[in-house]
Amino acid sequence: MDENCIFCKIIKGEIPSNIVYENEYVCAFKDLNPVAPVHILVIPKIHIQDLEHVNKENVEYVAKVQEAFKEVAKIAGVNESGYRVICNCGKDGGQEVKHLHYHLLGGKKLGTKIIND
Ligand code: AMP
Ligand code: ZN
Repeated sequence: MDENCIFCKIIKGEIPSNIVYENEYVCAFKDLNPVAPVHILVIPKIHIQDLEHVNKENVEYVAKVQEAFKEVAKIAGVNESGYRVICNCGKDGGQEVKHLHYHLLGGKKLGTKIIND
């Protein structure tokens, strides 16, 4: 855990959040500034900075995140309608929070563009 990381603080319950699902490895909570009717962040419960920092010691947590998407989608009611998962990495990827996280978006027909200039 990184004591200066806002998402580690959410995992530890040190700052408020709207958690929709969690297990031993994964935490999922509503994004503070949603860009779609359903916008949930799904994160590993250990501090991994980004995809560049995934390795054989922590990949189990990342695998558990992959496994959790369908649970989170079901809870959010978008498992049948569909959804999109986005992971921003680094400066050019537009990553703001330096704790690996996946945006699960849905609740409407999303646009076809996944890249904005
Ligand atoms: P990214 O640009 O991929 O790093 O996304 C960071 C996301 O975290 C943004 O969509 C923010 O709205 C969201 N965010 C930042 N702080 C919080 C928070 N305390 N609770 C929930 N979502 C947050
Ligand atoms: Zn963290």
